Amino acid sequence: MNTIPHWINGSPTQGSAPTTQPVFNPATGAEQARVVLGGAADVDTAVTAAAAAFETWSESSLSQRTQVMFAFRQLLVEHEEELAWIISAEHGKTVDDARGEITRGREVVEFACGLGDVLKGSFSDQVSRGVDVHDFRQPLGVVAGITPFNFPAMVPLWMHPVAIATGNTFILKPSERDPSAANFVAELYRKAGLPDGVFNVVHGGKPAVDALLTHPGIEAVSFVGSTPIAKYVHEQASSHGKRVQALGGAKNHAVVLPDADLEFAANHITAGAYGSAGERCMAVSVAVAVGDAADELVDILRRKANEVKVGPGDAPGTDMGPLVTKAAQERVENAVGTAQAQGATVVVDGRGLKIDGHEDGYFTGPSLLDHVTTEMDAYQEELFGPVLAVVRADSLDQAIDLVNANPYGNGTALFTASGEAARIFQRRIKVGMIGINVPVPVPMSYYSFGGWKDSLIGDSPIHGREGIRFYTRPKVVTTRWPAQAQQVTAGFTFPTSN
Ligand code: NAD
Repeated sequence: MNTIPHWINGSPTQGSAPTTQPVFNPATGAEQARVVLGGAADVDTAVTAAAAAFETWSESSLSQRTQVMFAFRQLLVEHEEELAWIISAEHGKTVDDARGEITRGREVVEFACGLGDVLKGSFSDQVSRGVDVHDFRQPLGVVAGITPFNFPAMVPLWMHPVAIATGNTFILKPSERDPSAANFVAELYRKAGLPDGVFNVVHGGKPAVDALLTHPGIEAVSFVGSTPIAKYVHEQASSHGKRVQALGGAKNHAVVLPDADLEFAANHITAGAYGSAGERCMAVSVAVAVGDAADELVDILRRKANEVKVGPGDAPGTDMGPLVTKAAQERVENAVGTAQAQGATVVVDGRGLKIDGHEDGYFTGPSLLDHVTTEMDAYQEELFGPVLAVVRADSLDQAIDLVNANPYGNGTALFTASGEAARIFQRRIKVGMIGINVPVPVPMSYYSFGGWKDSLIGDSPIHGREGIRFYTRPKVVTTRWPAQAQQVTAGFTFPTSN
C-alpha cells in the first residue's frame, strides 16, 4: 500500500512519528493509499526548513522569482492530465472537472508571473522642500495554508503562488482526504527550480493544524474550509499574533425572475447545483423562484436533474461523480429524508443510487426539493452535496431580503432579462461574489475571491491584489539628501511640510 509522505525541504519524508490514515477511492469505496499524519514535531521541522529558505528566497530578485513561476506554470500545463487523474481518483470528481480546477488554479500562477507590475510601489516627489516619499512591500516570512478537500489543487493554488512570488516561504496542510495533489505540486515546483524549503507540505488533521496556528515561527495563516473551523482558525491564529485570512462555508442562492429565459436558467442552475456533486463552495444550493416563474422552472429543473449522468469520475460522459466519503453520502441522503419529513416536496430523489460495478462507491443521485421554506434544515444547513432546494418568493425585493437574511454570503446569481433588476440586485445584495446570468461566479485570478458574513471570517479575501496585500507588509520611506538638507534648519517642533 502506497504511503503518502510529507514534503519538507525539497524531499519526501515520513516524518517523526508516522501514524497514517486511509485514503479512499470514492468511486469504489476501496482504500487506495495511506497518508502520514503529522503533528507538532513535523510542523516544527517544516518551519525550520522554511525559515532557513526564507533568508535567501526573500533576497532573490523579482525576476528570479517570476521566472520560477513561469516554469511552474509551464509544468502545470504539461502535467495537467496526470494531476487531473490523481484528483479524480481521491476526490471522486470527473477528470474533466479536475482539469477545470487545475486551469482556474493555474490562472493564479499567471497572475503571479505578472507580479512585477502589481508589486510596484508609489513615489511622491518633493512632498516638502528636498523631501521625497516612496513605499514598497516586503514578504512576511514563513506562511501557512490549510485547505479543504473539495479543490485539492485549485484552493492551495489560490495561496502559494502569490505567497511564494512575493518572497515568502510556504507550508501547506492539505485535506487528509485527498492529499496526493499537494505532493505532485511540490514535485513540479522542484522541477521548476524552486529552492528547497520554499514550498513544504505537512499532512495531517487537527494536531497538524493546531501546531501551525500556534507555532511562533509562522507569520500568517490562510484557511479555506467550513465556517466553524474557519472561526476556530481565525481566533487561534490571531491570538497567537498571526495575520489570518479564513474563508468559510456557503449557501448560494440563484434568484430567477419571471422575465428570465427559464430554459437557460435551469440549464445553468442544474450544472451549478450538481457539478462536482455539489461539493463546491460556489455550488448553487438554493433556487429562489420569483412569482410565476416557479412551476415552469421546477418542471425544467426536474427534466434536467433526471438527465444528469452519474458515474465514476474517470468514465467518459460522466457529469457527476460520487461524494467524497461514505459519511458525506449518508449525511446528504439523510438530509433529503429530513426535508421530506419537514414538508418539502421531493421532486427528484437521488437516494439509494447504485452504479453497476461500483456498488460500494459513495454515489447519490441529484435530488431536487420544492416548496422548501427558510425554517427547514435543508435550507439552513450547508448540505455540500447534489441537493437543490427551490424556495418561492413573490417579488425581487422579497428574494433579496431572503438572501440577505441568510448567515452565509459567498456567491449568488440572478437570472433575468432586466438590466434594471440586475443593477438593483447587485447593489443591495449582501454577498461577496455575484453572477448576472452566471451561476458560479468565481472571480478571475486578478480579482479577489471572498464572501461576506459567515463565508469569510476576518477581512481578507484571497488572491489578486488582496492576496499581494495579505502576504506582504508595507514600508514608507521619507528621504532627504544632505545637499538639500543643509537648506533646512532642524527644529524641535513636529515636522510639517514646507
Ligand atoms: P473542513 O473545514 O472540514 O476542513 C478544512 C481543513 O481544516 C482541512 O485541512 C482539515 O484537515 C482541517 N480541519 C478539519 N477539522 C478541523 C479541526 N477540528 N481543527 C483544526 N483543523 C481542522 O472542510 P472540508 O470538509 O474539507 O471542505 C468543505 C468545506 O469547505 C465546505 O464548508 C465548503 O463550503 C468550504 N469551502 C469554502 C471555500 C471558500 O472559498 N469559501 C472554498 C472551498 C471550500
